Amino acid sequence: MIITSKCIITDVIEISETLKLFEFEIDKYMPWEPGMFLHLNLDSSKFNPDWSNSRPFSFASYGDKKAKILVRKLGYYTNRMFDEMKIGKEFYIRYPFGDFFLNDNRNKVLIAAGSGISPFMSYMDYIIKENIKSQNYLFHSVKIEKESIDNYYSVPKNVILKKFVTRENTKNIPNRHIEKKDISNLENRNTFDYYICGSELFIDKYRNILEENNIKNIFYDYWS
Ligand SMILES: Cc1cc2nc3c(=O)[nH]c(=O)nc-3n(C[C@H](O)[C@H](O)[C@H](O)COP(=O)(O)OP(=O)(O)OC[C@H]3O[C@@H](n4cnc5c(N)ncnc54)[C@H](O)[C@@H]3O)c2cc1C
Repeated sequence: MIITSKCIITDVIEISETLKLFEFEIDKYMPWEPGMFLHLNLDSSKFNPDWSNSRPFSFASYGDKKAKILVRKLGYYTNRMFDEMKIGKEFYIRYPFGDFFLNDNRNKVLIAAGSGISPFMSYMDYIIKENIKSQNYLFHSVKIEKESIDNYYSVPKNVILKKFVTRENTKNIPNRHIEKKDISNLENRNTFDYYICGSELFIDKYRNILEENNIKNIFYDYWS
């Protein structure tokens, strides 16, 4: 069932100039699965059939009426969101949508660039709240170090974080993109399910690398 609900902003964390984590309370709460997304409308509870007055965002949290989304400022709507979504601001969502599900206890390799980490934040909340004992790797590639996930989220112990920074020189973090060797070097790499989230270009690149490694269980979430 799809629900329309009013929401109110309860916290805003500015991670960088173009990346913010919004926390909000959902008036009509219904649980979603990690990996699912919502449509957000700043002005009204009436969503156009062609979705032109709203934008989709993955849930970056799980299991609570206090929810989170991680938003990259790009164009018209996300600029409005950065300007208008302050504590106390009311807006509307329709949810939950999607078929990118991470709701099981299989071992996973998660591959994300920048804000593509958000469905994996929902999965990590799921691991914590549902006491999931799976073994996981999280590859997170960011342009600048302050956008690295561990600066704004406590990664659970059963998720091994592999960080990459591509546009800054940093100590102790590889200053490069995720490469084929990073995946090839994983022990028992064929026993994991693989999840990729980001732009079409990013997904296609890593899907090819995984396929070259004879990996079969690949799931991805195109954002464009
Ligand atoms: C299922 C799904 C889940 C998503 N989840 C998230 C999420 O959790 N977090 C998130 O941040 N986004 C997410 N997105 C993407 C998000 O919906 C878009 O970024 C948003 O709709 C952009 O709206 P806009 O009006 O700000 O940009 P528009 O003006 O509509 O621009 C859209 C596209 O134009 C290009 N563009 C415009 N301006 C710039 C710029 N300055 N620099 C580079 N490219 C530019 C980009 O290709 C961009 O994707 C998701 C998308 C989908 C389909």
